[in-house]
Amino acid sequence: MLLEPEREEIVRACRKLAAAGLVVGTAGNVSVRAGDLVAVTPSGVDYAELAAGAVGVHRLDGTPVEAPLAPTSELPLHLAVYEAYPGTAAVVHTHSVAATAVSTLADELPAIHYYVAMFGGTVRVAPYATYGTDELAANAVRALRGRTACLLGSHGAVATGQDLKTAYDRAAYLEWVCDVYLRAAAAGTPRLLPPGELEAVAAKLASYGQRR
Ligand SMILES: [Zn+2]
Repeated sequence: MLLEPEREEIVRACRKLAAAGLVVGTAGNVSVRAGDLVAVTPSGVDYAELAAGAVGVHRLDGTPVEAPLAPTSELPLHLAVYEAYPGTAAVVHTHSVAATAVSTLADELPAIHYYVAMFGGTVRVAPYATYGTDELAANAVRALRGRTACLLGSHGAVATGQDLKTAYDRAAYLEWVCDVYLRAAAAGTPRLLPPGELEAVAAKLASYGQRR
């Protein structure tokens, strides 16, 4: 089986997304790029029943290589992100509740918490376009410039990474920050971090964690 480790990793990530409540039913989709191939979740398969063999492998131009099922309808979005940002090797797209709520309200997720730095700056909301279209893919690519996440207007969230673990974690943190933003904005006007603070935190986060 082509890209077996990547396809298995996608199945595990989908189960985690469902268990964490970041996706409902068959919503959301996950992909991993390896060279000029992309492994991506199929359309409309419940994550509890998803097997690695059902995760399709496509070329970067979308041509199926080993794909028993139709790919996610957002395949154009995943492929457009890989084409525009060659350093990206994983994309996680969810309809997580708080991120989707913010996508209906705002033009960006402002710097209300230092975690926003992990997305490269305030998170833009891409203008609405119908799901699965090249227009939505292009809007997402624009919103991701210099960022590792964006919101899709009245739709959901996209997180990217140099590997799937990083993209998954960003999707989870993005949901958390959006949830905090909604709660804070419901109670008052959230304070924003001072100018320059996101950049300072980004530099600090780059060396955060257990170094080997
Ligand atoms: Zn979607």
